[in-house]
Order: sequence, then C-alpha cells, then structure tokens
Amino acid sequence: MSNKEAGNSAQSPLADTHELISPEVPHGIDRRSFLMRSAVGGAAAVMTGCAPKPDERAATAAATAKPEAPAAPGPSEPPLSADLNVVLKGKGPVLTTVEEFYKVGPGPSSSHTIGPMRITYDFYQRATKLPADQLAKATKLQVNLFGSLSATGKGHGTERAALAGLVGHEPATVDPKFLDGLRDKPDQVFPVKLGSKSIDVSLKDVIYDATKGDFKHPNTMTVKLLAGDQVLLEQEYYSVGGGFIEWKGYTPPKKNDPKYPFRTMKELRTHADTTKTTIGKIMLANEMSITGKSEAEVYAWVDKVINAMVATVKSGLAMPEDDVLPGPIKLHSKAATVYKRAMDDKYQADRGIGVLSAFALAASEENGRGHLVITAPTGGSAGVMPSLVYGLLEVRKVDRQKVREGMLAAAAVGYLCKHHATLSAAEGGCQAEIGVASAMAAALTATVFDAPSLVVENAAESALQHHLGMTCDPVAGYVQVPCIERCAFGAVKAWTAYAIASNEIASRHRVDFDATVAALAQTAKDMNSKYKETSEAGLALSVVLC
Ligand code: SF4
Repeated sequence: MSNKEAGNSAQSPLADTHELISPEVPHGIDRRSFLMRSAVGGAAAVMTGCAPKPDERAATAAATAKPEAPAAPGPSEPPLSADLNVVLKGKGPVLTTVEEFYKVGPGPSSSHTIGPMRITYDFYQRATKLPADQLAKATKLQVNLFGSLSATGKGHGTERAALAGLVGHEPATVDPKFLDGLRDKPDQVFPVKLGSKSIDVSLKDVIYDATKGDFKHPNTMTVKLLAGDQVLLEQEYYSVGGGFIEWKGYTPPKKNDPKYPFRTMKELRTHADTTKTTIGKIMLANEMSITGKSEAEVYAWVDKVINAMVATVKSGLAMPEDDVLPGPIKLHSKAATVYKRAMDDKYQADRGIGVLSAFALAASEENGRGHLVITAPTGGSAGVMPSLVYGLLEVRKVDRQKVREGMLAAAAVGYLCKHHATLSAAEGGCQAEIGVASAMAAALTATVFDAPSLVVENAAESALQHHLGMTCDPVAGYVQVPCIERCAFGAVKAWTAYAIASNEIASRHRVDFDATVAALAQTAKDMNSKYKETSEAGLALSVVLC
C-alpha cells in the first residue's frame, strides 16, 4: 500500500470494515441492538458521505440502543386489549359519522397531537366538575405518556399538545401560534382555573414515561389531579388513531340505527345497487339517521371540511420556496418549487402528476409545521385527500356537489378500515395511514366522475392493496421524512388506482375491498413492532442527521 493510499485509508470509512462497527459495547446496553445501530450508522455514513467518527457513532448508538433485556423481545407487541371499543367495534354495523371522522386540528399527528390534546381537554372538563372542597385541595396536574406516545412524542410535539388541552384549548380552535410559542419558549407557565383554585402548569408536568409495558393500547396516557401525594382524580386514556380517543371504562355514545346498516363494502354496495343510488347517497342517508341531522346540516359539515382542505393546500403553496420546516432534520419545503415547475410549459407532459404532488406536499408540509390540518384519516396522511379535493375543485372545476358525495364515499372507505383494521400507525404502520388515505382519495375521485359503485370499490381496493406492508419509521420521530413525500405518492397512487379501475372491465377485478382490509388487519397484527411508529427501525435508524 502506498503512503498516499495509507493516508486515505485512515479517513475513508470504506478502507476497513471494522470502522463500521464500534467494538466496545457499553455496560448495560443490549449487545445486538448496540452493534446493529453502530453498524447501520456506519453504513449510512459511507453511503451519505456524512461520517461521524467511530467514537461519536458509538456514543449515538449507546444513547439510542435498548438497555440490556433479560430475554429477547418478541417481534410484535402484545395484542390490543379485547375490551377496547376500537377492538369490539368490528362486530356490529358501521356507526362512525363524518364529524367524528374528519377532524380539524394541529399537526403533525392525529394520534400524537390531536388525540392527546382531546384527552387532556377532556380531563380538564372532568376536573372542573369535582366538588369545590376537593378542588380547594388540588396542588398539581400531571400527564404521563406511555408506549408510542413516549417513544416518538417529542418529535410530534405531544407534550405541547397535551399541555394545550390541559389549559383549555381544543384542537379545532387552537391557534397554531400558541403551540409554536410553546416550542420557542418551553419554560412558560400557565394558570389553570379549577373552581376557586388556580394551578400552575408547564411542559414539566408532561412526563415522557415508559415506552414498553403491558398497555391496553400502544398510545396510552394517564392524567392526574393531585393534592400533594394524594390523587384527587386520575384517568387512563388511549389515543386510538385518527384523533379518536377512549378511556378505561369507555362506552361508545348511544347512536340511532343507520338507515342502511352495513359491515362490509359488499353490503354497502348492495344497498347502493338495489336502491339504484350511489355509495355517497347511502352514506348521506346513514349520517342523517344515525345523528338525526338534516341533509343541509350534514353537507354543511362536509363543506367545512372541504374548505379547510382547500385552505391548507393554499397556505402550503403560499409558503416561500425553500422554507425550512421545524425540527432537527432541517427539511426544506418543496411544494412551491414542484408547483412552479409543473406549471412551466416546458414540463407540460408532467403537469398532472406534478400538480397533484405539489398539492399533497403543500398540505403535508403544513402538517409538518404543526399548522391546522384535517384528519383524513390521520395527520401524517393529511396531504393525500386535500390534494385530490383541491385538484378536482380548483383545477378541474368539478361540481361541488359531486365532491361532497365523494367525501362521503371516501369516509365509508375510511370507516371500514377503522372498523375491521386500524387507522393507527402504532397498531399497523404506515399502510394504516397513507394506505387508507390513498384508498379514500381513489373512492373520492371515482365518485366525482360518476363511476358505478363497483368501480369506486375497485379503485379504493387497488390503492389500499399497493400500500400493504408499508411501515412507519419517521426520522427522528418527526412527521416529515418519509411522511411528506409519502403523501404525494399516496395522492398519485389514488389517481392511478382510479385510472386503472375506470379502464378495466370492473367485474374482472380479482381482489375485493373487504379481502384487502382483512389483509391490512392481518399485516398490522404480524408487523414487527419496531416498524409501528417507534423510530427504532427503517429510515429512523439508517438516516444519519448531520
Ligand atoms: S411514516 Fe406514515 S404512518 Fe408513520 S408518521 Fe409518517 S405518515 Fe404517519
């Protein structure tokens, strides 16, 4: 070896493969986890050219590796508790309503921001109802986050969302500037009025607790009102996906029977076909019978959701090119640039895919900024449906009434996935978020273009099928990489699914939607727990931030 080569080998991580692995395993750290993290960090450094020194890599690997465990952990976490409503619900007819399903709230994650904010707001309401003599003794409010909420909550801003709910903010009306203010000035203290008592709370009262344990749901949290060491009120809650929440002892609210009860897409389509109407109209009739609302009231809510989706795309596109999103990734926004290029006549042939991608990036980047988004079905996937809604309304200029019906057909797709599988990445990985969003967007598009019910089903099935198995591994726990680009791919796949479904002989489609939802549920159960929003694997492990 020449002197020059020898000199290079000292600097090149390719020169000696031992350089990829830090040999000393610190005491008390799981050896396999440490060596794997060290090796993956080294390999990623080679590929990215971002090469921390071996001792720096060792420190990072030690900091992020699991503590030594007495026995090797199983591949997936314990099953969800059988008494959770989110588990029981698959047995009866679908009773979800649009107001429950499409929720407006701050990003970046419906389960890690909107859910926890709803939970602490709920607890605050309960606490205000305690007898005056109890409240007079209160000294402290405390939130403990467990499981996935603890593992990836910091990247999602879960502690800020939880504090906001505790001080009386609701997701739909909270000013995102309040949450930005908490990020910029984390030491702020807020008085919470409970009867005649005022209790000071701050981010220090939100505790990132155990990430592993025998929890009823991976997104578990407790909220307590204390008088010194004495617990005046305590409640265990679960953020079960899509901003839905449950608590220990939860019973779902009583609802009226749906006019057209269904448990499956097959039953839903049978109602549409035998009454010679559309899936959207069947869903409208069910909304009216379950909630007692008039058609105008149901559509008024759907219009609010449509308008919010259009607004989120507009505000995302209006952000300056190259805006940098909050967080350690320092991710530059792309929406405005992708849109500009798509509208350039030089690239006219790419325009359709270009603008759809730009709209999805715009809404998803707004989610990454923690601004208001709409769960469809979740915050991480909040770019997919708005992309199609904006494209159809603002570019294709389709009839708004068609989009309203499309929103109801899309909701049916989301309800069925929630009913029989999951909308929670902590339960099922990204297939449950972007996969479901893409299926919903395909159903929306097919409905808007007056496709028969079988084509609506086939389009939704196709979009969902081609996301099966997709894992959730957000880098540094931030809903940015891979989430933002995934929304663009989810939107384009939705369009592709519609294009295929509307060009094939519908009856020749070989996979039905219900079978694909069953596959989604089974894949969710079998998926290794590391890939369920834990930031312990995949890109979260291999990407080196520098
Ligand atoms: S990877 Fe997918 S499921 Fe996970 S946070 Fe991102 S968008 Fe959500």
